[in-house]
Amino acid sequence: MSFENLGLIEPLLKAVLEAGYSTPTPIQAQAIPAVLAGGDLLAGAQTGTGKTAGFTLPLLHKLMTSPSAPQAGGRRHIRALILTPTRELAAQVEESVRIYSKYLPIRSAVMFGGVGMNPQIEALRRGLDVLVATPGRLLDHLQQGTLDLSHVEYFVLDEADRMLDMGFIHDIRRVLAVLPPKKQSLLFSATFSDEIKALAERLLNAPKVIEVARRNATAETIAQKVHPVDRDHKRELLTHLIKTNNWHQVLVFTRMKHGANRLVEYLLKQDVTAMAIHGNKSQSARTRALADFKSGELQVLVATDIAARGIDIDQLPHVVNFELPNVPEDYVHRIGRTGRAGAEGEAVSLVCIDEEGFLADIEKLIKRSIPREVVPGFEPDPHARAEPIQLGRRVLHGAPGSRSGGGGGGGGNGRAGSGNNRGGQQAPKGKSSNFSGNNQGGQRQAAGAYKPAQAQDMRRRSDAANNEPVASTPAPRRVRG
Ligand code: AMP
Repeated sequence: MSFENLGLIEPLLKAVLEAGYSTPTPIQAQAIPAVLAGGDLLAGAQTGTGKTAGFTLPLLHKLMTSPSAPQAGGRRHIRALILTPTRELAAQVEESVRIYSKYLPIRSAVMFGGVGMNPQIEALRRGLDVLVATPGRLLDHLQQGTLDLSHVEYFVLDEADRMLDMGFIHDIRRVLAVLPPKKQSLLFSATFSDEIKALAERLLNAPKVIEVARRNATAETIAQKVHPVDRDHKRELLTHLIKTNNWHQVLVFTRMKHGANRLVEYLLKQDVTAMAIHGNKSQSARTRALADFKSGELQVLVATDIAARGIDIDQLPHVVNFELPNVPEDYVHRIGRTGRAGAEGEAVSLVCIDEEGFLADIEKLIKRSIPREVVPGFEPDPHARAEPIQLGRRVLHGAPGSRSGGGGGGGGNGRAGSGNNRGGQQAPKGKSSNFSGNNQGGQRQAAGAYKPAQAQDMRRRSDAANNEPVASTPAPRRVRG
């Protein structure tokens, strides 16, 4: 299969060739003919699969070959609208549109919050064919009457699952209400939850359904590893790994914004160039950090989950989970930053005893155990006891048995409740774990008291805008784009 076989117009083939792609990825091989054929599409594809070109290339083809193709000097209307959950993703999708439309008279723009509206209004006034936007800013423009979506022929909802996670459902509905009823709609999502199915039913008309890569499967090309370590030695271990392995482009994940800031301060003191990217940073600071990281000037980029969504750096060699995510699906998204589109990558997780429950959830989700490797000099204390994890005002119990008071029994050292009582929280009475031991061939040992119901209980998300943790079921969070 080649791009020529897909029937794309010559200027697109030329741009694709220049981008260095020789073969369509599986999602492209399926999505491109489906979009070209017309009709709606429900596509299950994670980031890193090449999905952006999967919808951008056929859309550009259709824009150019339809009767209302843009004419030089003619009045332009927005004919294709692409909605993304985050600013970074919006910027990257629009960059892709530009790259692929290099040899076409197509005008595109990206619009998101956190930056002035006037340049966006100016771009709208000049006329656009393709608009990539986050929902918040799009609605701002609609409200101000600076945006006309009545000519939209193609509508793409990218990373729809993340949109819903971020509480955008009402915004999406408001956008849908102003779009023409007759249009071709494409919905891309990494997962097909019930909510996504409900949204698809509302949005799509007899869609073709395609799905690539097993749901929640982690790319085969990503080497995954867990380094068990004491919570207080993670920073030293990270520095050690960066320096001894001579890592140059490392994306590091923390759960919270202030954790990201503190880690950056520490790394800078160790002469490792680092910057943080999270919701509290201004858009210009986020853009600069990303640009410096992409160019290789910055050795380490420390990110929280939501901020990192959409970061696309070709062949990112190293992803480090400085802290495991409390939502297991985020692990898949995080490590999807490496090993993209077939490139090899390495994902390393620094895991302390408090996070064993999170690790168990992740391994259950990805249906494999991740090999443990203790780094000499950073052996975890075998007598260490799990502590609750503080996420903003909420306290999570990431270790097996820590909530149920050691119901799993066995293996304890009789020091229940002693010492280490942080922030007035009751120290968990769970057993001391043998997690800290040597590489157990990837087998988790301390599964005793861990229960799936407990896993559900632990699945709390930290808020994208302010990292206030939010329970997964109540009122959705809203993050203005
Ligand atoms: P996406 O899943 O759209 O975020 O794309 C992931 C990465 O794959 C991006 O860095 C693209 O530049 C790259 N990519 C997209 N299509 C191809 C292809 N056919 N061959 C090689 N790389 C690709």
